[in-house]
Amino acid sequence: MTTEPLAIGEQVLALLDDAAMSSTYKPALLVAMLDRAPEHLRDGRLPVGELAERVVELYWPQSRGYATTGRVLVQNQAGGQAAILRDLAAFRRQAGIDAVTVPDAVRRSDEWRTLVRRAERTLAEWPIPRLQRPFEPFLYTTPWPFRETGGFSMRAYRASGEAVELFPGVADALVRLAPLLRPFVVRWWTEKAAALNRTEIPDASSLLAFEDFLFGRDRVALGRVAEGLLDLQRGACFYCAGRVGAGGREVDHFIPWSRSGDDGLDNLVVACRRCNNAKRAFLAGPAHLEPFLARNRTFAGDLDALSRERSWPRDRPRTDATVRSAYLVGAGHRPLWEWTGTGDGPRLRPYAEAVELVRVMLG
Ligand SMILES: [Zn+2]
Repeated sequence: MTTEPLAIGEQVLALLDDAAMSSTYKPALLVAMLDRAPEHLRDGRLPVGELAERVVELYWPQSRGYATTGRVLVQNQAGGQAAILRDLAAFRRQAGIDAVTVPDAVRRSDEWRTLVRRAERTLAEWPIPRLQRPFEPFLYTTPWPFRETGGFSMRAYRASGEAVELFPGVADALVRLAPLLRPFVVRWWTEKAAALNRTEIPDASSLLAFEDFLFGRDRVALGRVAEGLLDLQRGACFYCAGRVGAGGREVDHFIPWSRSGDDGLDNLVVACRRCNNAKRAFLAGPAHLEPFLARNRTFAGDLDALSRERSWPRDRPRTDATVRSAYLVGAGHRPLWEWTGTGDGPRLRPYAEAVELVRVMLG
């Protein structure tokens, strides 16, 4: 078995080529694993409950009615609906919730826990044991046993709290590869969903807008927290410190969304349009990293208040783990973006300085 990151990455891509799984669970599970791996680098055990919660979060924006038709998109072949999505859509209908992100009150409710528990069982019995087929397992083993049901061999998942056990080196490889793999898997998911709903998504030119819908990348929704975040920045762009007018302010994912999917308040800052466009999917250099880590520490109380007031998710341990893995795991040759004062694009920064900052400030 290989523990070489690139070989693991190639095999993950090969998994997507194989059409054996008829729903979008395959990309959902892969994205959830990429997003949760940073928190489990040490022991490589990914609790199924955590994967389930992430999968439910990923499907959350997708369980809204789509644009003109108002119909929830089908994400399973033969016209059926993926069970997790069906549960979510039913929950939304009953509760009358249209929000793009999961409201905090929902996240704390018994109904949410029930949804996650049901998803946990679904994932444990079907997608998790099947994801690696038709290959030999190369990412993980599942410690719960097989059982026979009506001629099918199925995994018997009894207790919640079990974990997928990653092979040695896999958690590390997933974290290293996330910047490359995650956008690819997200795009693959988009194309699969588009193919399953051909009548609604007629042409490839609208694919990017469709992806924004699927993954809740909604400027209007993000705008709900812009003002509160901007107050913490005294009305200035987080990167260039220029004044940010109401029309030009943009909410930026400090660790880019494309690599972490972290929408938590701790990962968000407000930038002017110029900086946001220039930074794109780069990691920021030490000149921005230090004030960023300091903000999350100094203004923890304010972020908490904003999270409650705007009903916006906040998960500091997750954001910290994302920051740690983004800067500490990897070769260290990547350019870090910093505002240069002239707008000449990214400035290559000594990587060691950023690593040292993360070590000192996050431990
Ligand atoms: Zn700026």
